[in-house]
Amino acid sequence: MANIPANSKLIKKLNRMNVLNILKRRGSVSRQELAAITGLTGPAITGIVKELLQLGFVKETGLGRSQGGRKPIQLEINPEAGYVFGAEVTRQEVSLGMANLADDPVLLQRRAVDMSGPRAGVENFVRMIGSAARMVERKGRLLALGVAFPGLIDAADGTVKRSVNLGRAWDGYAICAALEDELGVKVFIENNSNAAALAESWFGDVADCRDLVYVNWGEGISAGLIADERILQGHRGYCGEIGHIVIQEGGPLCNCGNRGCLEAICAIPALERKVAGELSYIPADDPVKARAAGGRVSIEDIVDCAAVEGSYCAELMRQAARYVGFAVADIVNILNPQVVILGGRMTRAAGPALPVIEETVRGHAFPEVAAATELRISSLDGRAGFAGACALALRETLESSASDLLFSHRTV
Ligand SMILES: [Zn+2]
Repeated sequence: MANIPANSKLIKKLNRMNVLNILKRRGSVSRQELAAITGLTGPAITGIVKELLQLGFVKETGLGRSQGGRKPIQLEINPEAGYVFGAEVTRQEVSLGMANLADDPVLLQRRAVDMSGPRAGVENFVRMIGSAARMVERKGRLLALGVAFPGLIDAADGTVKRSVNLGRAWDGYAICAALEDELGVKVFIENNSNAAALAESWFGDVADCRDLVYVNWGEGISAGLIADERILQGHRGYCGEIGHIVIQEGGPLCNCGNRGCLEAICAIPALERKVAGELSYIPADDPVKARAAGGRVSIEDIVDCAAVEGSYCAELMRQAARYVGFAVADIVNILNPQVVILGGRMTRAAGPALPVIEETVRGHAFPEVAAATELRISSLDGRAGFAGACALALRETLESSASDLLFSHRTV
């Protein structure tokens, strides 16, 4: 691939992020130390720090130890610079968290909200943000809102292209513009899995990992891909739809219109449908028989019953884990990530699936590539969505060229 000419604005943003990351990791650093760690010149560091001081992101905190000359002035992140909100939207609920420049995200509210269409959705969203902002108003100013949303998202223009989970009413809806109008703060959006991948790389066990894949196994199946610290968007921003890798030609019909997709076989609704459909053929002494109420079985029932060796559900889950393993092997072959993180409702409920997925990946990915990739369960357990939305809002705020984000808002 041809080298892309260096873009000075981009380099400036990356240098600023780098300086902030060092401050966040080390707590207190002098300009001289920043120059030594980053390899940037003294004047370059002085310029970046001056800008960060003006924005209020960084503060001077006193004098450090002398290395022979004058005592250097120490710098720290300024947690009072403001905070961001991050919201994860799913079919069941909205989870709203907050974070500042220094601390990891915390959950503020998680509740069922009607998001079946944009009109009610935006209204409900605004109400939720407004009441949360009043709760934390002493924490400083609200800098931005990040949203993790299910479906195909055009992050660049802030539009929902299609959300199978929430319904066709959202097709083509410019959600960021609508929320910005109502809230008066900058709003950024990403697909749920992309946001979760970002959360893992910012706040998870593997923080600072440059190349990772987050696999969201739940109501649907999709992946968020981080390559060289950036979310891999693809041509139209739809990267990572691994749920639609065809596993069984002519298999069950998928929401996307194709047949035999991974999601149509292994996502939660597919597993529940499969058990319900085969219930009459399952032996009477199988544990799942006693759990089936009116011919319906929940995923919790399936996971519980899978703990019984030799049961129908144990075999079903093993097969599902193998299929997920095939898809993960494909990603590993294509992207050579350092870590693959399994998250979502299924992996939280079904930890035993991990060894089967791992075995399948080892057996089906190119050996050297598979050996270099670590598989693990998400350490953020249910927090990846809103934490990723916070990370998105923080990243965009920190990378913005300066004041356009910070001086445009009003009280919500
Ligand atoms: Zn599909």
